[in-house]
Amino acid sequence: MANFHHVVSKARETFESGKTRSYEYRKKQLENFKRMVQENGDKIAQSLEQDLKKCKMESFFTEIGLLVTEIDYILENLKQWMAPDKPEKNLITMLDKVRIYNDPKGVVLVMGAWNYPINLTLMPVIGAISAGNCVIIKPSEVAPASANVIAELIPKYLDPEAYQVCLGGVSETTELLKEKFDHIMYTGSTVVGRIIYAAANKNLTPVTLELGGKSPCYVDDSVNLNYAVKRIMWGKCINAGQTCIAPDYMLCTKEVQDKFVKEARKVIEEWYGPNAVNSPDYCRIVSDRHFKRLEKMLQNAEIAYGGQIDPKERYFGPTILTNVNPNHPVMKEEIFGPIMPIVTVANAHEAIKFINARDRPLTSYVFTKDKQIQDLFLENTISGSAVVNDTLIQFGVHTLPFGGVGESGMGAYHGKYSFDTFTHKKSTIIKNYNSLGEKIASARYPPYSDRKLGV
Ligand code: NAD
Repeated sequence: MANFHHVVSKARETFESGKTRSYEYRKKQLENFKRMVQENGDKIAQSLEQDLKKCKMESFFTEIGLLVTEIDYILENLKQWMAPDKPEKNLITMLDKVRIYNDPKGVVLVMGAWNYPINLTLMPVIGAISAGNCVIIKPSEVAPASANVIAELIPKYLDPEAYQVCLGGVSETTELLKEKFDHIMYTGSTVVGRIIYAAANKNLTPVTLELGGKSPCYVDDSVNLNYAVKRIMWGKCINAGQTCIAPDYMLCTKEVQDKFVKEARKVIEEWYGPNAVNSPDYCRIVSDRHFKRLEKMLQNAEIAYGGQIDPKERYFGPTILTNVNPNHPVMKEEIFGPIMPIVTVANAHEAIKFINARDRPLTSYVFTKDKQIQDLFLENTISGSAVVNDTLIQFGVHTLPFGGVGESGMGAYHGKYSFDTFTHKKSTIIKNYNSLGEKIASARYPPYSDRKLGV
């Protein structure tokens, strides 16, 4: 049985030596990280093709490119983020130095997901390095080629005493979680998220959980439907629907539904041809387990478009289900595949009621030109993120926190939010030692009196 004690001990020893804390060290590691990604772009893309049949362009703009821009953004700001913050002072501390030190947390565990196995594993690692931590990296075994490429490259480019990769599945993860960490970041399902949370609880380890859920998408008739179809179905079809922030299901009136399906048929065939199985730009489902799960979702459903599958290849074509009953199995769990169920509602108010009666989603989308309806959604629904008139783009904005709420997760990362996630904010007072300061301070010493209390 795997034992990771020596791995974590080595990281702990390195952290305690203090070497990961300086600005120069962090900068060097981040520059090496960037070089690693740039020099091995093709190799990384090949691993993604092996795991998910992800095409090169998708690999670069949804996984690899974002790592490079994240590093650039962090390097531009790191010195300033690392400097102690100077909060406002009050009467009692007016003669003192009041600071918030941005300390690294120590040894952190980052557990990646398999759907964007490069980005969702390495993006948090960049944040953890920038905050001065040692990192144990556990890629998902469900995407083995990507996990192997991470394990091969990290020790070649980064300090092997501070950053180590552990490979394996459930039993290895279970062993790893017996170790004590100073922070755990996990990306994956809510079910496994609970297991991670329970393991962290034993050591009172803080966690960031990037989980999933059913992200709704409301569309009304004020929008240009062709644009809406493209933006929504792109969010659904990219990575064959295996995207945590994909629009999971649609809410709209019956009239919008009928027009949407007609337009979607045209758009999907424009993108992938009459049969997406032949398209070089269309991904495959990651495993037989997930394929079978998706197949079941088509039972007793009204398939308005698609429905073609090939279990041998794990090909699941873009599919739209209409007039879906909210109690149908497709509405009971996150789909995580290229199936778009449409539930019809009378209006925006009914859509909001529908959303609020369910778990808090990772994200929510609304397509409308009506500013009042936009505000209605933004002010009356709660989700990790929300986008009006587009999908997925929030992930690429380094200045926005990326994370869930409630069942879709806790904590957030990207840019400064990653730095803060892996940083301990140490409240600090450097007290003055002069006679005026001592006079003010002496008000607190006995004997007490009403005069000292100011009454
Ligand atoms: P998953 O990825 O969470 O489960 C598989 C992983 O969990 C494997 O790596 C496995 O080794 C591990 N695991 C399973 N049982 C375990 C146990 N008992 N102890 C320790 N580890 C265990 O689940 P999935 O359903 O394949 O992934 C899809 C989910 O991930 C979706 O819900 C999706 O929304 C979510 N996700 C969220 C984000 C985000 O950023 N919020 C990103 C990607 C995926």
